[in-house]
Amino acid sequence: MKIAIIGGGPAGLTAAIYALRNNFEVVLFEKGGIGGQAAITNEVENYPAFKNISGFELTNKMYEQAESLGLKTKYEEIVSVKPEDGMFLVKTEDDAYIFDGVILAMGASAKALGIENEFVGRGVSYCATCDGNFFKEKTVAVVGGGNTAVDDALYLSNIAKKVYLIHRREGFRAAHMAVERVKRQPNVEFVTNAVPVRLEGGDVLEKVIVKTCDGEREIKTDALFVAVGQKPNSDCVKGLVDIDENGYILTNGNLETCVKGLYAAGDVRQKTLRQIVTATGDGAVAATNLIMQLLNK
Ligand SMILES: Cc1cc2nc3c(=O)[nH]c(=O)nc-3n(C[C@H](O)[C@H](O)[C@H](O)COP(=O)(O)OP(=O)(O)OC[C@H]3O[C@@H](n4cnc5c(N)ncnc54)[C@H](O)[C@@H]3O)c2cc1C
Repeated sequence: MKIAIIGGGPAGLTAAIYALRNNFEVVLFEKGGIGGQAAITNEVENYPAFKNISGFELTNKMYEQAESLGLKTKYEEIVSVKPEDGMFLVKTEDDAYIFDGVILAMGASAKALGIENEFVGRGVSYCATCDGNFFKEKTVAVVGGGNTAVDDALYLSNIAKKVYLIHRREGFRAAHMAVERVKRQPNVEFVTNAVPVRLEGGDVLEKVIVKTCDGEREIKTDALFVAVGQKPNSDCVKGLVDIDENGYILTNGNLETCVKGLYAAGDVRQKTLRQIVTATGDGAVAATNLIMQLLNK
């Protein structure tokens, strides 16, 4: 029997390992790079068995394991999934494939700042680990208050001359230890209770204007790293499965969606903790339950 896994992040890769070890044929569809968000994580310090490992190395190990078991990978974006005669029709722009079961593991992507003239690629970036090196010894700013923003500020403090961490509140949602670590960096300045309202510059970004309690403040910077949250990549199943108000896919305890045989795992589904360890756990649970369902068909 044949299973499709959509998304090659930790959830999809773990689901693949479980299905392959049960002798299922598995095709994994990935629209970008293997490893998903985890692959662009500079340092992972909370995945058991590794005190410190780069996200790229960790997910590469997962991929090598799945490949050694016979994983087939197609570097294509899935645009729709439809149930058809007890099977699933999985479509890309140009092709269509039939599978017995599908695991949705499309993860999530960074949200845009939502103000005019975002200077994307001209000073504004959504990935500090990807673009940070372009700003060696320069001034950069990070906007956001969660784990990603704080991790980005720490990462950039080792590259840039000066880092502004802009957050709309006083307190941070990020892990306490991470915030404390950033506070110890002498080149990081916290700009709290501040909301970016305008970006200014010529060909490239030059200034971020933030609104504070005392009025507007101008922050001169060479780059702005945006880390203000995420949106789930659930478009290919829009209208097919139930989602919450933010677009996260709803599942039952077995990680099955409201469509029989269609499972969801990892950051794309509604859950309380979006991490590598919970994504891999989800992948294992979704694959095991899908396998049981197909074997009992
Ligand atoms: C900067 C940053 C730092 C982080 N640090 C940590 C950390 O230290 N520890 C930790 O545990 N977690 C960390 N996380 C969170 C962790 O990376 C995620 O929870 C985890 O990667 C989720 O795995 P996933 O497989 O569900 O989704 P993702 O990793 O998002 O992977 C989903 C994959 O699906 C692909 N995809 C999406 N739509 C389609 C489609 N239609 N067709 C084909 N492919 C598609 C995407 O390209 C992507 O590769 C961090 C995240 C970020 C952004």
